[in-house]
Amino acid sequence: MMPAFLHLLGVEGPAPMAIKGTCHCGAVAYDFDHAPRWTTCCNCSVCRRYGTLWIYARIPQVTITGPTDTYTHGDRELAFHSCKICGCITHWENLALEGPDARMAVNLRLADPDVMASVPVRYFDGADSWRFVDAPLAGHAQQQAYQADT
Ligand SMILES: [Zn+2]
Repeated sequence: MMPAFLHLLGVEGPAPMAIKGTCHCGAVAYDFDHAPRWTTCCNCSVCRRYGTLWIYARIPQVTITGPTDTYTHGDRELAFHSCKICGCITHWENLALEGPDARMAVNLRLADPDVMASVPVRYFDGADSWRFVDAPLAGHAQQQAYQADT
């Protein structure tokens, strides 16, 4: 049975643009060869603390370089990676799946602000209902906090 989070994926098809992200010190970088249809802001116990915006992909479609530390909790299906030097959350990987169904996500907040602002945000209620919601709930980062002025 597929883990419940797989239906959250907002990414399909080849990219008209690639998204590049780096941590603050530059030791860890990712190259996301996809066009995300949206980025997921989640209010679960981990994501609300990290303040991450996730974009999802199959593992071969993302290149990550640089040394990271990992954090797992609960059922230990997800490993959250952070830069060993500056601590920025760079991505998560799914430890429970392998092969073509294996997914991961990178933190869009590590991309340039203009790129980040160009990707629509969807709010996922990971704290309670496990559904997307139309507007931010308690624990969701506010979209206005990072959107570029237009
Ligand atoms: Zn760093």
